[in-house]
Amino acid sequence: MFDSLSDLLWLLAILILCIVVLALVDRWVVILRRGLLRLRARRLPPGRSPLSPLHVAAFAEIPALVRSRCGCGATLQKVIEGPAPYGERQLWLVVQGCPTCNQRTPTYFDVTGAHDRPRIGPSPLTPVPR
Ligand SMILES: [Zn+2]
Repeated sequence: MFDSLSDLLWLLAILILCIVVLALVDRWVVILRRGLLRLRARRLPPGRSPLSPLHVAAFAEIPALVRSRCGCGATLQKVIEGPAPYGERQLWLVVQGCPTCNQRTPTYFDVTGAHDRPRIGPSPLTPVPR
């Protein structure tokens, strides 16, 4: 199949080179994807991405920090909330929905140093009727 040992060595060298190039390309894609995510997170308002969470010292601070109104003017309602670990940080995600335009609004909180426990149940986020 191979005329000489040197042909086989060349083929092996090319194969190893291909593997190295593929590994480098894979690494670059990961770095590029992370960079794009950071760039996108920078354009979002604080709290809208796990890369730019709102820092709170207590879960009790969260209800006052979530938005109460949608961009369309309707009152936002809580859809779901819960833990959203991100790397070594403990994040808490609150997703609100608009009953008028159906837009979902996520808000991420960094609760890594929170000194209290989350309150789940009848929501403290439920809008107070006027
Ligand atoms: Zn809306």
